[in-house]
Amino acid sequence: MSACARGRDRPAGAVLIGLPKPEPGSHEGLLAACMALLLCLFAVAIAGVVPEEQVSVDVAISALPGEARATSEDGNGVLLPASGDDSRSAALLRFALPEPDGRGSRWVVRIERDPVDALWLQRGTWRSDTLDFFAPRDDEGILPGGYLFPLPADWTGPIELQLHARGNVRSALRPKVMREAEAMRLEQYGVATSAMVYASLFTIGLLALALFSAARDRLFLALFAYIVVTLLTLGAANGHLYQLPGLRLFAFWRGPGLYALGMLLAASWLQMLLQYAGAEAVPRPGRRVVDIACLALVVFAAACLLNITALSDAFLRFGATAWALALVLGLAILFDAGRRRVAMAWPLAVLTLLTLVGVVMMDLSMRGQLLDSVLVRYGYQLGIVVSVAILSVGLVSRIGEYRHQRDRELLARTDTERRMQREAARSNLAATLQTSLRALPVADIEWSAFRELLDRLGPLLPMERGAMVAQGYHGHDTLVVEPVPATDAVKDSIARRTLALKRLAANGIPQQQPVASEATQSVVAIEAVVPLPIRAPAWGVLLLQRAGTDGFTTEELSLAGDFARLALLHVDQAVAAVNLRRSAELDALTGSLNRRTIDQWLGRAFSEAARDQQPVSVLFLDLDHFKSINDRHGHACGDFCLRNVASALRGALQEGDLFGRYGGEEFIAILPGRAGAAARTIAEQLRAAVENLPLEWNGQALRLTVSVGVATRREHEQTPDEALARADKALYAAKRAGRNCVQVAPAVFT
Ligand code: GH3
Ligand code: MG
Ligand code: MG
Repeated sequence: MSACARGRDRPAGAVLIGLPKPEPGSHEGLLAACMALLLCLFAVAIAGVVPEEQVSVDVAISALPGEARATSEDGNGVLLPASGDDSRSAALLRFALPEPDGRGSRWVVRIERDPVDALWLQRGTWRSDTLDFFAPRDDEGILPGGYLFPLPADWTGPIELQLHARGNVRSALRPKVMREAEAMRLEQYGVATSAMVYASLFTIGLLALALFSAARDRLFLALFAYIVVTLLTLGAANGHLYQLPGLRLFAFWRGPGLYALGMLLAASWLQMLLQYAGAEAVPRPGRRVVDIACLALVVFAAACLLNITALSDAFLRFGATAWALALVLGLAILFDAGRRRVAMAWPLAVLTLLTLVGVVMMDLSMRGQLLDSVLVRYGYQLGIVVSVAILSVGLVSRIGEYRHQRDRELLARTDTERRMQREAARSNLAATLQTSLRALPVADIEWSAFRELLDRLGPLLPMERGAMVAQGYHGHDTLVVEPVPATDAVKDSIARRTLALKRLAANGIPQQQPVASEATQSVVAIEAVVPLPIRAPAWGVLLLQRAGTDGFTTEELSLAGDFARLALLHVDQAVAAVNLRRSAELDALTGSLNRRTIDQWLGRAFSEAARDQQPVSVLFLDLDHFKSINDRHGHACGDFCLRNVASALRGALQEGDLFGRYGGEEFIAILPGRAGAAARTIAEQLRAAVENLPLEWNGQALRLTVSVGVATRREHEQTPDEALARADKALYAAKRAGRNCVQVAPAVFT
């Protein structure tokens, strides 16, 4: 039995321990829990490195004389309004530096790295370096998180410093004065977080490529593309992209390039979600809305990149709004997918919601309405990374679905093939039995049918031994064993438990029982007992034995039962056909050939004799005064006598002779190969057999005699008619001669 079939069908009577087959997506709970655990670890890791922001020196910000108000609402930030392609801002920073206390570290002004084209500090003749978001300097370090302006070491006491900024991305600059060591600590934190974000995205991107090559699903390629866009966008938003050789060319577009990337990210995210949720399953209007939104985002991005100022200015104003709208649309897709039980849709929706909050906070902070904090700066980035991770997990779970589907198809196919194979074997068996059994003598019918059955069952139902046992079926016992050498062992085993088997057969339900080894008492095989539908008091079973402890499946047992029923049906039909044929040939009362059959045999015997130039003789026998038997003892007695006389006459004939009842109390014998004297001798023997037949009816001895007329074929005779007529005349002569005698027709009657 193949492993696959064994795994699929539950063995009859065996208890299977195991979990129900998991449905696709049922791992989602477990996955979500693991993801939540990972997120917690992530959060703990971040909390561990989050620096307590210690601003050593309070900074008061005020507008420069003659400049428009450029401070944020909370008074802690310098607003850089995004309007025109060269908006500028300047503010006055007032703070007091303490006297040197020997701790050594210089004082620096640190400003979070917002996208500005130029940023510098000025105090009288002193002017700091001018820093540019889009052209980071080598001395700014790897993955810088802020702009650092070291202050001259000799500055103490109250300081007034001008801050100048130029750029066309809206931002709120929040200068902080701190010791250089503190600033470096913040930088390190920024490096760690950014590195974590990029490394995660990079890894998931590689994974997506690997999955694409393994699963050949374009969706993984789409995921890879989406991750690339995400990496570029976050790299650009943090200003790190402009540090990389080759990617520096993104700086060409400056602020608008950033917006363009952001919009492309939103568009690719929406498309990704649509594919993920199953584009066919999303209602058509929904798909159209998403497509239009994506188109709008791409147009927006193109406008930014083409530097169409009039257009991009209008867009820039609503940059974050567009992002938020895209997120809301994505949320709608995810809610719909969650309702349809798409894997990981709900965790993704929650994360998207959190990212939405992050984006809104980021926007508020850039507008100067919310304090810029670590959470605001990196929160949305982490949200994006985690949602990419969850998205990948969700996509990976689709592989499981493909596998399930493929397995199901494979199972269905093998199942169909197996069923077809069995059906073919069944009809093959039926056809073979149909044609072969009819040609067999009655004694061989059962045996042949059972052998055929075991031969056909073997390849379909691997087993070490099979036996068809039938007792009293059609009047005799039959045992057929496969393999044949096991016959004696099976015979012994049946003899030892006939009663038990008979009971199982009467039960009508297939049963399985372990077969223990006599030496070790351990189970070495399973025996199935399949009852045969045979009418009591006859009974029969099909015994199947399979090595090991697995036993047979219900399907296999029903197949065996089916085949056995088929075999029995054909045996019954074949036996019935033989009986019918016999009853058509034989005389019902005496069991001898009837008139019709003997006439056929007569014709055949005469033509054969004529062909071979051999003699053949015909004997007519008529009981003497039989009427008086009927009259005196009744018809039942007459019948009794006829049966006994017929049997006595048959017994007195030789092999090859034919004997039949010609009608009433007349019989006929055909003696091929014998003529004249030889025929007469046999006729005498027949006459004597009847005369000496000891018969008794109701305690009364009966005496019967028979008159016999003999005729032999003449040389030219091809048919029996003339010989019959002569035999009839000879019989008549015997009657006239006083009965109980033999008369031979002379060669020519005159
Ligand atoms: P005989 O031939 O010696 O001249 O006298 P018979 O009494 O035998 O005369 P006949 O041959 O004319 O009678 C045949 C009788 O055989 C008539 C009938 O009662 C009886 N008989 C014929 N067929 C059957 C049968 O199937 N059963 C019984 N019980 N009797 C039969
Ligand atoms: Mg008669
Ligand atoms: Mg008679």
